[in-house]
Amino acid sequence: PPQRLRVGLGERGYDILVGEGLLAHAGGRIAPVLPARRVAIVTDEAVAALHLPALREGLAEAGFAVAAEIAVPPGEASKDFFRLHAVLERLLAAGVDRRTAVVALGGGVVGDLAGFAAAVTMRGLPFVQVPTTLLAQVDSSVGGKTGVNLAAGKNLVGAFHQPRIVLADIGTLATLPPRELRAGYAEVAKHGLLQGPLWAWCEAHGAAVIAGDRAAQAHAVLESCRLKAAVVAEDEREESAEGGRALLNLGHTFGHALEAECGYDGTLLHGEAVAVGLGLAAALSARLGHCAQALPGRVIGHLRACGLPARLADLPRRFSAAALLARMAKDKKAREGRLRFVLLRGPGDAFTASDVPREAVEALLRE
Ligand code: NAD
Ligand code: ZN
Repeated sequence: PPQRLRVGLGERGYDILVGEGLLAHAGGRIAPVLPARRVAIVTDEAVAALHLPALREGLAEAGFAVAAEIAVPPGEASKDFFRLHAVLERLLAAGVDRRTAVVALGGGVVGDLAGFAAAVTMRGLPFVQVPTTLLAQVDSSVGGKTGVNLAAGKNLVGAFHQPRIVLADIGTLATLPPRELRAGYAEVAKHGLLQGPLWAWCEAHGAAVIAGDRAAQAHAVLESCRLKAAVVAEDEREESAEGGRALLNLGHTFGHALEAECGYDGTLLHGEAVAVGLGLAAALSARLGHCAQALPGRVIGHLRACGLPARLADLPRRFSAAALLARMAKDKKAREGRLRFVLLRGPGDAFTASDVPREAVEALLRE
């Protein structure tokens, strides 16, 4: 049987189910939390080819009608306003009503796009997340953020829309390209560093997650979701600048700057940028005297052992310190151009620092 985690978010709260074979019996799992046995599925073409047949069967088994199957091209480019428009037109043409649930089958791109479509169609259709990447299972399917990208920046247009249920089927990870699996693991390591004991578990079992050990993957997903859900529950709408959801940005100030410098050209996956960001955040914490001098070595060593880059030198290209600093000063989470970082006193003890001297960051980036 799957493991069940109750999340106290939204008006009613919802369950995250983590286990194997969830797609094949999806209908019976989701029916109790939906107003009708009627869904529209949004997925991407790559995921559809691999996992849509199992979901179709799992829905048919419980007598669900599928009003529409909408498959967008795979990739970040589909998280786009015009693609959203096309999805909305398809949903309405299929005759969805307020009782029809939107089911997102895929990674974070599909979850964010379909979730936003569900949020704005008839001012909110019931929404179900069926995340198929490790990143989506441990991060993007929990917390209720949905949205699309605009030229001015990623995720600037969207809505909070909590799902009725999340089905994290570990079996879908078997078809995930290894590089995507590793990238998703960076967010698990981040959650570990925020949580504490989960970091020690990561050091012992992270390699098994990457190697495809399903029990280890299920544990990583469950504990990651537990941590993220707890953080989000405290600060559902990201109103706190320092605590709450802001702490989930550990490694992300650096990571976003690296991604932006690459122009989101695919050189770096988000999780790879975050992995380097975690290494840099640990190094900055040590440099400023907040944590043990041994912590950066542990963080970097673990990420590298999991096949992730963890220092700037591990990346396929060089980055200018000045350019990265300029990007970080423009980060949407930067306030008045002051550099804000989530730093560590140790695993399980993160805090936001808004007064980090530019020189310390610059020296680190030039190392
Ligand atoms: P993605 O959705 O693009 O998936 C990555 C690739 O894996 C795609 O090519 C996809 O077709 C393929 N894929 C997915 N599942 C597969 C499977 N089981 N087998 C084989 N291939 C599979 O990317 P992602 O990394 O899952 O998500 C990234 C997105 O998530 C970004 O847009 C990011 O902004 C967003 N995100 C959102 C939140 C949030 O809170 N809403 C949090 C973190 C990230
Ligand atoms: Zn992230």
